[in-house]
Amino acid sequence: MCADTIKRPAWPESASRPLVSPIQPAVVYASDGPDMLDAQYDGELPGYTYAREGHPNADALAGMIDALEGVSGGIVTGSGMAAVTAAILGRVRAGEHVLGGDQLYGRSLRLMSETLPALGIEASTADFTDAGAMAAAMRPETRLVLIETVSNPTIRVADVAGIAAACRERGILLAIDNTFATPRGFRAVDHGADMVIHSVTKLLAGHSDATLGYVAATDADVQEKITTLAVTMGLTASPFDCWLAERGMLSFALRYDRSEANAGALADALAEMPGVLRVLYPQRPDHPDHNRARALLGGRGSHMLSFEIAGGREAANRFVAALGSIPFAPTLGDIGTTISHPASSSHRGLSAAERAGIGVSEGFFRVSVGCDEPEALIDAFGRALAETC
Ligand SMILES: *Cc1c(COP(=O)(O)O)cnc(C)c1O
Repeated sequence: MCADTIKRPAWPESASRPLVSPIQPAVVYASDGPDMLDAQYDGELPGYTYAREGHPNADALAGMIDALEGVSGGIVTGSGMAAVTAAILGRVRAGEHVLGGDQLYGRSLRLMSETLPALGIEASTADFTDAGAMAAAMRPETRLVLIETVSNPTIRVADVAGIAAACRERGILLAIDNTFATPRGFRAVDHGADMVIHSVTKLLAGHSDATLGYVAATDADVQEKITTLAVTMGLTASPFDCWLAERGMLSFALRYDRSEANAGALADALAEMPGVLRVLYPQRPDHPDHNRARALLGGRGSHMLSFEIAGGREAANRFVAALGSIPFAPTLGDIGTTISHPASSSHRGLSAAERAGIGVSEGFFRVSVGCDEPEALIDAFGRALAETC
């Protein structure tokens, strides 16, 4: 064996291009010398330097989501919560105030109640289905409002038009977490959002195998601040996860349409089944925000629904056991249908009285409807209910 430095092989050339994006796991990119590196950092030459600062798989994925949301320059982050964090900390300083909807994703609520105050940022919440209540909670030092288009797990729909108008009047940035509605159901920037956020982990990636987020701002300066914050705090994403999500994104529209159709059919079927006390699905006329959902989602539905059965925790345990083929799992947006029980998972930190206030009882279930055969899906729920009630 002869002594030598460690050398990497040359990559075989091909005149034709691969149809599929390659995964580029490189942490670092070698350049020709200091002048070239300078030019790259100054943006005079394209390309990458260090993976935390950016890499092709993240940019390819971000570009796909940008196109769906009708924005440019969005970034991919290591999780949905990293995107929420970057959106807030990129723009809000100690002494300023963040106003959130009162039914945000559990960890977003916790960010507001624990983490932001520890950083000297004030945070409070108000009823996001009532623009008047949100406007009344805005303060002179409010810098950013965070709402979700469709909430978890009560599937309530935000008063987006009213909240956007109140923010605009006061010069407050409106950030919309569009995870539940997805850009196929709702384009946030067309409705006054200054920032749009996703947990890409959910329906966009769609296969429960990649944890990622996305955040884009309509203003280039705001985007620059968010991107810098994400790079500095290390909130950016891994190439392999981005590559998996890109693959998922290719079938997003198909999966969305199928899941939405299935959710509508399952909601209607559940409403007729014995033992079901109520069904929450925005496209049903009995949903409290039905008219707003029609206006905002333009006839599109959601892949999420919730429903309540009689009999408390005991019936809930029996129902989950009887469902058998439908995984009991506290996430959403998978290719297949999953069911979760907010009282024992996302909302376990609330008191029974607080849960009752938003209608999350022991018999309350949330369903993330997937691309299953609709007859099989309805049949599975029907049989489980018949066994339980
Ligand atoms: C899941 C979720 C998040 C957090 O996303 P992670 O990828 O789990 O960090 C944020 N907002 C909403 C609405 C979510 O459903």
